[in-house]
Amino acid sequence: MKPAPFTRHVPKTVDEVVIALAEYAPLDGRILAGGQSLVPIMAFRMARPTHLIDINEVDGLDRIAIDGDYLSIGARARHGAFHRPVIDGVLGHLLAFVASHIAHYPIRMRGTFCGSLAHADPSSEWCLVAATLGASLVLKSVRGERIVVAEDFLEGIMSTCLAEDEFLAEVRLPLLPADTKFGFYEFSRRAGDFAMAAALVTYRMVDGVIVDARVGIGGAEDRARRIGEAEAVLNGQAPSPDLFVAAGEAAAAAIEPLEDIQTTAEYRRDLVRAVTRRALERSLP
Ligand code: FAD
Repeated sequence: MKPAPFTRHVPKTVDEVVIALAEYAPLDGRILAGGQSLVPIMAFRMARPTHLIDINEVDGLDRIAIDGDYLSIGARARHGAFHRPVIDGVLGHLLAFVASHIAHYPIRMRGTFCGSLAHADPSSEWCLVAATLGASLVLKSVRGERIVVAEDFLEGIMSTCLAEDEFLAEVRLPLLPADTKFGFYEFSRRAGDFAMAAALVTYRMVDGVIVDARVGIGGAEDRARRIGEAEAVLNGQAPSPDLFVAAGEAAAAAIEPLEDIQTTAEYRRDLVRAVTRRALERSLP
């Protein structure tokens, strides 16, 4: 099928983007970023936006740079930009490792980091990164700017706190201390498929024990989120195979699993048990 007819608008500045959104969002106007989620949905006529506000020619939105104590990622920064570390240090390596798990190469060359967050698929790797690391998101409209944390931004399956006239202009990821350890593991049936469950863990070691543990789970619930119960198991303990199993058990017990035609709640809970343990195992040298 072909998409239903629409008018494409091509703003050149962020001001023009938000003015266009204010005018066309009430007429079912939408942002077009990489188009890797929106265009297939339009082709199936599951969405029929009458106006598309194409941000691909807006100057400066592809910026990825350190601002103070965070990494700023602009709305046109594509998944593929992260194939190699975008900055020195742990965060650059973490993002490069995770990026390689997103879809397939051609999709990574068009799809955007911010588009993934705005789309809010529960399996999105960038949603998991944002939720686990505590990203801040900069939302702009003609009414001004507001900054929300990922935990408040992600509201459910493909649901966010973005108002219809708001543009996600930038994501800010906190830089990670140099001694941060991380591990990421996701399970999907075929390479490039959406994850059926994924875990991202970060922590530091002080005097032989884990501190500042963060355990994020994606793909298993209606949104990616940190699992405090698993973090509590880890903090203050020395890493060991038994500890990692216990953290996996805690994560599995804490989630409210999604069910679908292929996957029962118990199967997804079991996946969470496994991906959490394996992410922790990957955090060790
Ligand atoms: P678009 O498709 O352009 O937009 C998606 C939605 O977000 C639209 O509603 C749009 O209006 C809105 N939007 C986009 N940017 C903004 C913004 N800055 N502000 C406000 N609203 C905005 N993704 C994964 O995370 N993991 C995968 O494994 C994965 N596998 C895929 C496999 C296939 C075969 C395909 C086709 C896609 C897959 N994707 C996967 C999705 C892909 O990562 C998309 O690129 C991403 O979800 C959306 O980014 P985009 O820039 O393409 O957004």
